[in-house]
Amino acid sequence: MRALIAGAGVSGPMTAYWLAKHGWDVVVIERAEQLRLGGQNIDITDAAREVVRMMGIEDTIRAHHTGEKGVAFVDAEGRVTARFPVEEKGSLTREIEILRGDLVKIIVDANPESVEYRYGRSIDALGRRDDGVTVTFDDGATEDFDVVIAADGMNSRTRELVIGPDARPRDYLGCWSSYFTLPRREGDDDWWRWYTSANGIVAFLRPDNEGTMRSSVNFLSDDDHPPHMSLDEKRKRLQDRLRGSGWECDRIADDLEGVDDIYLGPLHQIKADRWSDGRCVLAGDAAHCPTPYTGMGTTLAIIGAYVLAGELATHDRPEDAFAAYERRFRDFAETNQKLPPGVPDIAYAQSEMKRRLINLGAKVAASSPVQSVASFFDGGKRSEQVTFDLPDYGGRKAA
Ligand SMILES: Cc1cc2nc3c(=O)[nH]c(=O)nc-3n(C[C@H](O)[C@H](O)[C@H](O)COP(=O)(O)OP(=O)(O)OC[C@H]3O[C@@H](n4cnc5c(N)ncnc54)[C@H](O)[C@@H]3O)c2cc1C
Repeated sequence: MRALIAGAGVSGPMTAYWLAKHGWDVVVIERAEQLRLGGQNIDITDAAREVVRMMGIEDTIRAHHTGEKGVAFVDAEGRVTARFPVEEKGSLTREIEILRGDLVKIIVDANPESVEYRYGRSIDALGRRDDGVTVTFDDGATEDFDVVIAADGMNSRTRELVIGPDARPRDYLGCWSSYFTLPRREGDDDWWRWYTSANGIVAFLRPDNEGTMRSSVNFLSDDDHPPHMSLDEKRKRLQDRLRGSGWECDRIADDLEGVDDIYLGPLHQIKADRWSDGRCVLAGDAAHCPTPYTGMGTTLAIIGAYVLAGELATHDRPEDAFAAYERRFRDFAETNQKLPPGVPDIAYAQSEMKRRLINLGAKVAASSPVQSVASFFDGGKRSEQVTFDLPDYGGRKAA
């Protein structure tokens, strides 16, 4: 059997790995000219740890730990109001913290040589037949596959080709997020510094294992569908928000000048009504993006890839495999999309009172404001989430 996977993020290469282990021929296409290695600290939790263990890459992942010591809440003058060391209650730094780019590289390197990667490619059209799919690529070439897997992320364009335009997948969270890399300055430490400004910004500075700093700037906005923004427009938009906002916001605005890896955009949860149609299926963020604020996007992508490949390996008809994949995995994915009550507004402290609540409340590790904000930014709901029992598809032997 032959699969085409669109998207070489986490979900695509993970699915490719497991399918290849089950004996499939796999082609992965990536729209960018090379792997996109941007992004910040992500963590791998729950059954996803078991999946990477089965692949034999857990130690390599741990060796790429970012070195972050925990979370420190800071005020406008830079004073630390509270610290939450790694794994302590209230801390958002997890045992396995790795830069997204490092993880993507590790997964792609773990792929068997038989998996073919093609860059600068995307899908223009899907011609469905009972026994396969004829894919038309963006260069006009056509090729036949047994199944097509759309793993092209939150803003997937392939999704519409797979399930059609009426599947109502987007749920706007009312806020924008940005991610970028900054030079490390004297005075930067190995703590994730978390600042809530009086004018509705939540800004982060986090250490990485490459001698630079990772920053994220987040704010509420009604603007759900912005037009395409150039790099300069993104930079300017962030700088306008940051200037005069206290703490290191002016420094971040200044340092943005030389930065070219800016991601900025509105945050949507993806809630596709159905994940497959015929021999085409959605995977990862394209199917069930929970947003980075839950901290679960990568964990879901890893577990989902294992399940999707396993079901394909154990069913004769791909259509039956896709139905089984959705039956097994949808509940878990949807549970992990749930955000706590009051989110996202509470995190942004638009009133002075809320801001004080967050900064003062941060002094008490278990205080409810901190827990709510923590829930918003990194999946504090973990305590209540269901666990996922990995089926045994013979993968343990295959790995
Ligand atoms: C550059 C980047 C930075 C990120 N940073 C963070 C972060 O800091 N924190 C966090 O929690 N999550 C981040 N994410 C999201 C996180 O990677 C996902 O939530 C999670 O890992 C699930 O991964 P995925 O493979 O489903 O999607 P993604 O990781 O988004 O990967 C999708 C891939 O598909 C490619 N693609 C897009 N359109 C097409 C197309 N039409 N054809 C072919 N390929 C296409 C993209 O270039 C990308 O490589 C980031 C994603 C990206 C792409």
